[in-house]
Amino acid sequence: MTQATYLWNPPAVVSLPVIGSTARYPVNRIFCVGRNYQAHAIEMGMKGVVKATSRPFYFTKTPSSLVESGATIPYPPGTADFHYEMELVVALGAPGFRVSEADAEKLIHGYAAGLDMTRRDLQAIARDAGRPWDLSKNFENAAICSPIVPAGELGVLDRGAITLAVNGVTRQAGDLSQLIWNIREIIADLSQFYHLQPGDLIYTGTPEGVGAVKTGDHLSGHIDRVGDITLTIGAAE
Ligand code: MN
Repeated sequence: MTQATYLWNPPAVVSLPVIGSTARYPVNRIFCVGRNYQAHAIEMGMKGVVKATSRPFYFTKTPSSLVESGATIPYPPGTADFHYEMELVVALGAPGFRVSEADAEKLIHGYAAGLDMTRRDLQAIARDAGRPWDLSKNFENAAICSPIVPAGELGVLDRGAITLAVNGVTRQAGDLSQLIWNIREIIADLSQFYHLQPGDLIYTGTPEGVGAVKTGDHLSGHIDRVGDITLTIGAAE
């Protein structure tokens, strides 16, 4: 077969380090669950019990928006209210379509700690106008992720502290047991709409306590049995 030639060099494969492996995890897609902790849904203005009234909903981030833990990212353009959202990330390692909750675990390769960085002011404008969330959620350096820890003996995480500190002060402190839709439910539901693939990351939503960051801030997050994530906010471009 003739090797294709391109007008310019294609983007490199986006990937993440894997704990205990020299091979890296090649990223395919980035799915994110919205409002998956009751207390965060309430701080975002929702009323009542979310699970009783709806299904989970999703948005996506372009893989090129992914940044590894430990980075310094510029304060992004177009916002004056740049927020952190500390989240458990589920990293898939097998394909699945219309999988049952009972079979969902088979798709899980591992877990990571993630930050779903958000231009909150643009999200509010989009929400109020009924417009897509892309400008607020899907932009350069908007998805931060730690190295992936293989699921191994962890199984399906159903509990464990998830915390985030800004400049050493704890701002978010939740537990994975507070997820409105748990990991099995998310994978099963998402697989009704997509042919899930190895390399698909799922950001599972953030606990309450989201807030704004500014240039010079240092973020440090932790999820029990999964690991740590850090991020520094640099100057605006
Ligand atoms: Mn989020």
